[in-house]
Amino acid sequence: MRRCPYLEELVKDQRAFLRVYRFDCHVDHQSKRKYALRDSPPICVRNYEDCALYQSEKRREDSTITRYTD
Ligand code: SF4
Repeated sequence: MRRCPYLEELVKDQRAFLRVYRFDCHVDHQSKRKYALRDSPPICVRNYEDCALYQSEKRREDSTITRYTD
């Protein structure tokens, strides 16, 4: 499974007809929840490159690496 390198934890619960995804993000240190009626995992295990938090953290890391290698 593809997963964002900044994803700390992903837990899936089933409550009646509802799927509850709880995921912890290393970038903003928030624990988030996503509710869905069908299997619909959060962006962190799908197209995480489209996540604004991922993009900003990746840019920050890349610029740090560039500074060290210059
Ligand atoms: S995809 Fe975005 S919200 Fe999910 S762990 Fe990565 S940076 Fe955080």
